[in-house]
Amino acid sequence: MTIPPGGTIGILGCGQLGRMTAMAAARLGYRTIVFGPEADAPAADVAARHFRADYAEAAALAEFASAVDVVTLEFENVPVAALEWLCARRPVRPGPRILEVTQDRLAEKRFLAGLEIPTAPFAPVADAAGLEAALTALGPEAILKTRRLGYDGKGQVRLGPGAAVEDAIAALAGAPAILEGFVSFARELSVITARRPGGELCSYPPVENRHAEQILIETIAPAELPPRIAAEAVAIAERIAGSLALEGLLAVEMFLTGDDRLLVNELAPRPHNSGHWSLDACAVSQFEQLVRAICDLPLGDPTPTSPCTMQNLLGHAVDGWPELLAEPGARLHLYGKRETRPGRKMGHITRLRR
Ligand code: AMP
Repeated sequence: MTIPPGGTIGILGCGQLGRMTAMAAARLGYRTIVFGPEADAPAADVAARHFRADYAEAAALAEFASAVDVVTLEFENVPVAALEWLCARRPVRPGPRILEVTQDRLAEKRFLAGLEIPTAPFAPVADAAGLEAALTALGPEAILKTRRLGYDGKGQVRLGPGAAVEDAIAALAGAPAILEGFVSFARELSVITARRPGGELCSYPPVENRHAEQILIETIAPAELPPRIAAEAVAIAERIAGSLALEGLLAVEMFLTGDDRLLVNELAPRPHNSGHWSLDACAVSQFEQLVRAICDLPLGDPTPTSPCTMQNLLGHAVDGWPELLAEPGARLHLYGKRETRPGRKMGHITRLRR
């Protein structure tokens, strides 16, 4: 079902991804209503309305559903029950089944294994004895991650030889976890794919991502890769999007090993930080592509108009805005967050490389 310009898009989540989606939606003539519990809500500043409520509040969800034509999300940890409830009333794109897979690192890895798509070796961990067994199976160099609700390296413990197993379990406060073998990758890549309800697919080229303390700091777009590897990365992302019957956007994070193998690390069914460059170096940004996909409009051209580098402004790096504004050719994006905290994503800057 097409939702033509003039319609209203409901976004679950109120962060910067929702903000940039709402701005792209406005450019195509849509109104946006956002839903989420936060007070410091970057998307609320640019939306027609903010339902400030918990995702479990049925009355607020009902009013939200009746005010919008289609529902999407910018935060993948929206409770599946809320999505199922909305699904009965409005098109929800992406739908609850995808969230069930991507909210749980173990379900996600098992899903990928089912598609025979390589990932880091993994094993579920419920307690210290399970962690001992998993370390014996996967080797001492590993990362213990909570199955749910981790982001930007939160809920993760790096383990090496002689690791204190009890301490690692305690650090995750007993949350169900997954142990992943440590991948000594050469580079990190990601691919963002859009899929319309009818199955049309469109992918941005792979980009290279650099992290510091597990937080993305820089994206180089497009990644400099042998064409065969770039094509393989896109094919993997599109196969996953097709298998999930995605309606919307999917970011696929991957490791590239020194011997040119691609391993999928993580899936995110929403706009992704590694796609922000597309605002400044593509005819159609990832945010507009999401709007097109969920409204069932023809997808836009993902070809970069220029190579570029996107740098995140984390914490007080944002205070450098006067110098950044003065930089010729640089494009500054600030998210309007009220509070600056160390490591918090406050904005980003794109520099075109001609
Ligand atoms: P994640 O939250 O799973 O995306 O992890 C954040 C970052 O930690 C990744 O972008 C990698 O830099 C690093 N990382 C995560 N898992 C692994 C792994 N199995 N092996 C090596 N590095 C990893």
